[in-house]
Amino acid sequence: MRYNFSLNYSPNFSTPKRSLRQIKFIIIHYTGMKSEIKAIKRLTNVNSKVSSHFFIKKNGEVVLMVPLKYIAWHVGRSKWKNFNLLNKYSVGIEIQNPGHAFKYPAFNKKQILSSIKLCKFLKKELNINKKNILGHSDVSYTRKKDPGEKFPWKLFAKENLSLWHNINKRKLASFRKKIVSKTEKNNFYSNLKKIGYFVDSNSKNKKLLTLAFQRKYRTKLLNGIIDKECLIIAKNLSKT
Ligand SMILES: [Zn+2]
Repeated sequence: MRYNFSLNYSPNFSTPKRSLRQIKFIIIHYTGMKSEIKAIKRLTNVNSKVSSHFFIKKNGEVVLMVPLKYIAWHVGRSKWKNFNLLNKYSVGIEIQNPGHAFKYPAFNKKQILSSIKLCKFLKKELNINKKNILGHSDVSYTRKKDPGEKFPWKLFAKENLSLWHNINKRKLASFRKKIVSKTEKNNFYSNLKKIGYFVDSNSKNKKLLTLAFQRKYRTKLLNGIIDKECLIIAKNLSKT
Protein backbone atom coordinates (compact mmCIF):
# COMPACT_ATOMS: atom_id res chain seq x y z
CA MET A 1 0.00 0.00 0.00
CA ARG A 2 1.37 3.38 -1.01
CA TYR A 3 0.29 6.77 0.09
CA ASN A 4 0.73 10.09 -1.63
CA PHE A 5 1.67 12.72 0.90
CA SER A 6 2.48 16.33 0.25
CA LEU A 7 5.85 17.25 1.75
CA ASN A 8 6.67 20.16 4.02
CA TYR A 9 9.53 19.12 6.27
CA SER A 10 9.94 20.33 9.82
CA PRO A 11 13.42 20.81 11.31
CA ASN A 12 12.06 19.81 14.72
CA PHE A 13 12.94 16.18 15.38
CA SER A 14 15.45 14.10 17.31
CA THR A 15 18.39 12.22 15.87
CA PRO A 16 19.51 9.46 15.58
CA LYS A 17 16.97 7.46 13.65
CA ARG A 18 14.71 5.04 15.46
CA SER A 19 13.69 1.58 14.40
CA LEU A 20 10.14 1.50 13.03
CA ARG A 21 9.51 -1.47 15.30
CA GLN A 22 9.77 0.91 18.27
CA ILE A 23 6.58 2.62 17.17
CA LYS A 24 3.61 1.39 19.22
CA PHE A 25 1.23 4.36 19.24
CA ILE A 26 -0.57 6.82 17.04
CA ILE A 27 -1.35 10.07 18.87
CA ILE A 28 -4.02 12.35 17.47
CA HIS A 29 -4.02 16.12 18.04
CA TYR A 30 -5.70 19.29 16.99
CA THR A 31 -3.34 22.18 16.35
CA GLY A 32 -5.16 24.69 18.58
CA MET A 33 -4.03 27.40 16.16
CA LYS A 34 -6.51 29.90 14.80
CA SER A 35 -5.44 29.50 11.17
CA GLU A 36 -3.96 26.74 9.08
CA ILE A 37 -1.13 28.98 7.87
CA LYS A 38 -0.15 29.80 11.46
CA ALA A 39 -0.25 26.13 12.39
CA ILE A 40 2.01 25.13 9.49
CA LYS A 41 4.42 27.97 10.30
CA ARG A 42 4.64 26.88 13.91
CA LEU A 43 5.14 23.19 13.14
CA THR A 44 7.94 23.95 10.67
CA ASN A 45 9.66 26.81 12.53
CA VAL A 46 12.95 25.82 14.16
CA ASN A 47 12.28 28.11 17.16
CA SER A 48 8.94 26.55 18.10
CA LYS A 49 10.48 23.19 19.03
CA VAL A 50 7.25 21.41 18.09
CA SER A 51 6.42 19.18 15.17
CA SER A 52 4.34 16.26 14.06
CA HIS A 53 4.84 13.49 11.54
CA PHE A 54 1.66 14.37 9.71
CA PHE A 55 -0.52 17.41 9.34
CA ILE A 56 -4.07 17.20 8.01
CA LYS A 57 -5.25 20.36 6.33
CA LYS A 58 -8.82 21.67 6.22
CA ASN A 59 -9.18 20.38 2.66
CA GLY A 60 -8.17 16.90 3.82
CA GLU A 61 -4.68 17.02 2.29
CA VAL A 62 -2.14 15.01 4.28
CA VAL A 63 1.28 16.64 4.68
CA LEU A 64 4.32 14.67 5.79
CA MET A 65 6.46 16.88 8.04
CA VAL A 66 8.74 14.41 9.78
CA PRO A 67 9.62 10.98 8.33
CA LEU A 68 8.57 8.11 10.60
CA LYS A 69 12.12 7.00 11.31
CA TYR A 70 12.70 10.24 13.22
CA ILE A 71 11.16 11.21 16.56
CA ALA A 72 8.84 14.22 16.16
CA TRP A 73 8.07 16.55 19.08
CA HIS A 74 4.30 16.41 19.42
CA VAL A 75 3.30 14.85 22.71
CA GLY A 76 5.63 16.08 25.51
CA ARG A 77 5.09 14.89 29.06
CA SER A 78 2.89 11.82 28.73
CA LYS A 79 2.09 8.40 30.17
CA TRP A 80 0.25 5.31 28.99
CA LYS A 81 0.55 1.87 30.56
CA ASN A 82 4.27 1.40 31.22
CA PHE A 83 5.28 3.96 28.63
CA ASN A 84 6.64 7.35 29.59
CA LEU A 85 7.35 10.30 27.25
CA LEU A 86 5.61 8.87 24.22
CA ASN A 87 7.32 10.81 21.40
CA LYS A 88 9.85 8.04 21.06
CA TYR A 89 7.19 5.34 20.61
CA SER A 90 4.63 7.17 18.54
CA VAL A 91 3.49 8.74 15.32
CA GLY A 92 1.92 12.17 15.71
CA ILE A 93 -0.96 13.41 13.59
CA GLU A 94 -1.97 17.07 13.87
CA ILE A 95 -5.36 18.00 12.46
CA GLN A 96 -6.06 21.65 11.76
CA ASN A 97 -8.69 22.84 14.21
CA PRO A 98 -8.45 26.02 16.34
CA GLY A 99 -9.55 24.06 19.39
CA HIS A 100 -11.28 24.96 22.63
CA ALA A 101 -9.54 28.31 22.92
CA PHE A 102 -11.21 29.44 19.67
CA LYS A 103 -14.79 28.13 19.81
CA TYR A 104 -13.76 24.59 18.85
CA PRO A 105 -15.49 24.05 15.49
CA ALA A 106 -16.25 20.53 14.28
CA PHE A 107 -13.70 18.62 12.23
CA ASN A 108 -14.91 18.57 8.64
CA LYS A 109 -15.73 15.47 6.59
CA LYS A 110 -12.58 15.65 4.47
CA GLN A 111 -10.39 15.83 7.57
CA ILE A 112 -12.17 12.86 9.14
CA LEU A 113 -11.92 10.75 5.99
CA SER A 114 -8.22 11.58 5.63
CA SER A 115 -7.50 10.79 9.27
CA ILE A 116 -9.23 7.40 8.92
CA LYS A 117 -7.36 6.59 5.73
CA LEU A 118 -4.03 7.67 7.21
CA CYS A 119 -4.53 5.71 10.44
CA LYS A 120 -5.53 2.59 8.51
CA PHE A 121 -2.37 2.91 6.46
CA LEU A 122 -0.14 3.44 9.51
CA LYS A 123 -1.81 0.69 11.54
CA LYS A 124 -1.07 -1.79 8.79
CA GLU A 125 2.41 -0.54 7.91
CA LEU A 126 3.60 -0.37 11.53
CA ASN A 127 1.48 -3.17 12.95
CA ILE A 128 -0.16 -0.95 15.57
CA ASN A 129 -2.81 -2.26 17.96
CA LYS A 130 -6.10 -0.34 17.70
CA LYS A 131 -6.01 0.13 21.47
CA ASN A 132 -2.87 2.20 20.96
CA ILE A 133 -4.50 4.78 18.71
CA LEU A 134 -5.03 7.54 21.23
CA GLY A 135 -5.77 11.21 21.70
CA HIS A 136 -3.24 13.60 23.19
CA SER A 137 -5.59 14.10 26.16
CA ASP A 138 -5.53 10.36 26.89
CA VAL A 139 -1.82 10.46 27.61
CA SER A 140 -1.39 14.05 28.86
CA TYR A 141 -4.76 14.79 30.47
CA THR A 142 -3.43 17.21 33.08
CA ARG A 143 -2.33 19.58 30.31
CA LYS A 144 -4.25 18.75 27.14
CA LYS A 145 -7.80 18.58 25.78
CA ASP A 146 -7.05 17.66 22.17
CA PRO A 147 -8.37 16.30 19.91
CA GLY A 148 -11.45 16.86 22.09
CA GLU A 149 -15.03 15.67 22.29
CA LYS A 150 -15.78 16.42 18.63
CA PHE A 151 -13.27 13.89 17.39
CA PRO A 152 -15.22 10.87 16.04
CA TRP A 153 -13.81 8.05 18.19
CA LYS A 154 -16.91 5.91 17.74
CA LEU A 155 -16.52 6.07 13.97
CA PHE A 156 -12.85 5.25 14.41
CA ALA A 157 -13.86 2.20 16.42
CA LYS A 158 -16.22 1.13 13.63
CA GLU A 159 -13.25 1.27 11.29
CA ASN A 160 -11.30 -0.86 13.74
CA LEU A 161 -9.11 2.06 14.74
CA SER A 162 -10.07 2.50 18.38
CA LEU A 163 -11.40 0.78 21.45
CA TRP A 164 -15.16 1.16 22.08
CA HIS A 165 -17.79 -0.35 24.35
CA ASN A 166 -20.70 -2.52 23.26
CA ILE A 167 -23.43 -1.19 25.53
CA ASN A 168 -26.78 -0.02 24.20
CA LYS A 169 -26.87 3.78 23.91
CA ARG A 170 -30.35 4.27 25.38
CA LYS A 171 -29.66 1.95 28.26
CA LEU A 172 -26.50 3.90 29.02
CA ALA A 173 -28.24 7.26 29.01
CA SER A 174 -30.56 6.07 31.79
CA PHE A 175 -27.51 5.82 34.07
CA ARG A 176 -26.39 9.39 33.40
CA LYS A 177 -26.00 11.52 36.55
CA LYS A 178 -26.73 8.51 38.79
CA ILE A 179 -24.56 8.80 41.89
CA VAL A 180 -21.89 6.21 42.61
CA SER A 181 -20.32 5.08 45.89
CA LYS A 182 -16.73 5.62 46.94
CA THR A 183 -15.93 1.96 46.23
CA GLU A 184 -17.43 2.30 42.75
CA LYS A 185 -15.31 5.39 42.14
CA ASN A 186 -12.22 3.37 43.03
CA ASN A 187 -13.39 0.65 40.64
CA PHE A 188 -13.72 3.27 37.94
CA TYR A 189 -10.11 4.34 38.39
CA SER A 190 -8.79 0.80 38.50
CA ASN A 191 -10.65 0.07 35.25
CA LEU A 192 -9.14 3.18 33.69
CA LYS A 193 -5.76 1.89 34.74
CA LYS A 194 -6.52 -1.43 33.06
CA ILE A 195 -7.42 0.41 29.85
CA GLY A 196 -4.03 2.12 29.99
CA TYR A 197 -4.61 5.50 31.62
CA PHE A 198 -2.18 6.74 34.22
CA VAL A 199 -4.13 7.36 37.44
CA ASP A 200 -2.72 10.30 39.37
CA SER A 201 -3.30 10.35 43.15
CA ASN A 202 -4.01 14.09 43.18
CA SER A 203 -7.78 14.74 43.30
CA LYS A 204 -7.68 17.70 40.90
CA ASN A 205 -5.86 15.55 38.36
CA LYS A 206 -8.33 12.72 38.92
CA LYS A 207 -11.10 15.06 37.88
CA LEU A 208 -9.12 15.97 34.75
CA LEU A 209 -8.70 12.27 34.03
CA THR A 210 -12.45 11.72 34.32
CA LEU A 211 -12.95 14.65 31.94
CA ALA A 212 -10.51 13.18 29.41
CA PHE A 213 -12.39 9.89 29.62
CA GLN A 214 -15.70 11.70 29.05
CA ARG A 215 -14.35 13.66 26.08
CA LYS A 216 -13.74 10.34 24.41
CA TYR A 217 -16.44 7.95 25.61
CA ARG A 218 -19.27 10.02 27.11
CA THR A 219 -19.39 13.24 25.17
CA LYS A 220 -23.02 14.13 26.05
CA LEU A 221 -22.04 15.39 29.50
CA LEU A 222 -18.57 16.70 30.28
CA ASN A 223 -18.45 17.51 33.97
CA GLY A 224 -15.52 15.54 35.38
CA ILE A 225 -17.90 13.73 37.76
CA ILE A 226 -18.01 9.94 37.81
CA ASP A 227 -21.60 8.75 37.46
CA LYS A 228 -23.04 5.31 36.85
CA GLU A 229 -22.83 5.74 33.06
CA CYS A 230 -19.07 6.45 33.22
CA LEU A 231 -18.66 3.53 35.61
CA ILE A 232 -20.38 1.06 33.28
CA ILE A 233 -18.51 2.24 30.17
CA ALA A 234 -15.14 1.94 31.91
CA LYS A 235 -15.96 -1.53 33.18
CA ASN A 236 -16.99 -2.67 29.70
CA LEU A 237 -13.88 -1.18 28.06
CA SER A 238 -11.55 -2.76 30.61
CA LYS A 239 -12.79 -6.20 29.57
CA THR A 240 -12.28 -5.80 25.83
ZN1 LIG B 1 -1.74 17.83 21.11
